[in-house]
Amino acid sequence: MPILIRGGTIVTADEQRVADVYAEGETITRIEPTIDPKSLPRATEIIDATGKLIFPGFIDPHVHIHLPFMGTLAADNHDSATRAALAGGTTTVIEMICPSPQDEPAAAFNTWHTLAAASSHCDFTFHQAVVRFDALARAQLRELVATRGVASFKVFLAYKGALDLSDENLLALLELAKELGVIVTAHCENADAVAFMQKRLIDAGHTGTEFHEPSRPECVEADGVHHLATLAELTGAHVYVVHTSCESALQQAREARARGVNLWVEAVVPHLVFDKSAAERSDFEGAKYLMSPPLRAAHNIESLWSAIARREISTIGTDHAPFHFATQKSLGRHAFTAVPNGIGSIQERVDLLYTHGVIAGRIDLCTLVDAASTQAAKLFGLFPRKGTIAVGSDADLVVYDPNFRARFTREGSESALDYSAYEGMERCGRASVVTLRGRIVARDGSFVHDASRAAGGRYLARRPTH
Ligand SMILES: [Zn+2]
Repeated sequence: MPILIRGGTIVTADEQRVADVYAEGETITRIEPTIDPKSLPRATEIIDATGKLIFPGFIDPHVHIHLPFMGTLAADNHDSATRAALAGGTTTVIEMICPSPQDEPAAAFNTWHTLAAASSHCDFTFHQAVVRFDALARAQLRELVATRGVASFKVFLAYKGALDLSDENLLALLELAKELGVIVTAHCENADAVAFMQKRLIDAGHTGTEFHEPSRPECVEADGVHHLATLAELTGAHVYVVHTSCESALQQAREARARGVNLWVEAVVPHLVFDKSAAERSDFEGAKYLMSPPLRAAHNIESLWSAIARREISTIGTDHAPFHFATQKSLGRHAFTAVPNGIGSIQERVDLLYTHGVIAGRIDLCTLVDAASTQAAKLFGLFPRKGTIAVGSDADLVVYDPNFRARFTREGSESALDYSAYEGMERCGRASVVTLRGRIVARDGSFVHDASRAAGGRYLARRPTH
């Protein structure tokens, strides 16, 4: 059914303006100061957006959905995670394919793609994690880029002995990425330093969740960013630092960019909202707030926000990686090193950015759109199909009520997770209507279930753009 959204304020990364938006089929076909409904097919659904904002569908560039862990799986599957995404205004997710080193890259791609295609309600694509780099992996990665629409890799400098590559292999991978025009996203922490600090703390009997941050302090992350930048400088590869958490890591990124390294920076929502005191909460409550890099000393929150305002940080994702408190986080009651890492945020991201960014006066609306949608589309080969409001772009639209006020609750979330890290916190703003390629998929902060059709998310094959 065609859709006309009337009277709202369109917000893109560059401008705000009042206009009507009309979508026929899956794409935006008209944007004009006023569109007369009489000029449209009679079946057109008219959405009154007076007093509301119209954003391009948001893109979360960093989520984990299918996530095998210690013989079990993270709390969400593609059904629940993408319902949650849409309810919160996110219409495209970029999921990390995280195989084990025993898995072949092509088989891992097929596993993730099959699962997502079966039950994803929003559009999706993947960063292919590279956790082995032998001749077979090299050949299969080339093939995935050439034929399956993979345009970004992920590497871990952290996770000693499990997921990290040797420097020799990292250099070879970056060289391949450069040749293929693929951007390499990277988790930057010095893996040996983390292993050393974890052992030292545990041996001293410091097993509580308050020791997670001291086990991987800021200097360890800054060292990881510096190391990645060095290897990128040597190879000319384009790299992207995921979940940057602190000023000292940002400083390394700034210095690398200043000397010409092609390096981009991502922040994720938990680091913009919480400081490390959350992970220090008593009665093991702190486990709800364990992620890596960890939540930091409070002054870093302002550093990150001002870097977003200056557009020095390009994107804001979530690192959504939900583990149930009762049955999964609890595996680490005896030692923080056994607590599965991650904070579920896929539904809350946009409202948190609106509340803590726009309402708090730290960023303007255009910067919100740039960081939470447009830049991810540009960096990862989705623009201008995604990431903006323009004739010819997919009709992924968020009609947003800036005056909505409530509090975050577990009950208000579509995620399967058994707690909300944001429980009881102030919430400003809500997606009133969300469309995915011209179809209404969420209303008033809830997913719209359509029993007459299968999950409507589509895989977004991409071409390398770097
Ligand atoms: Zn992650």
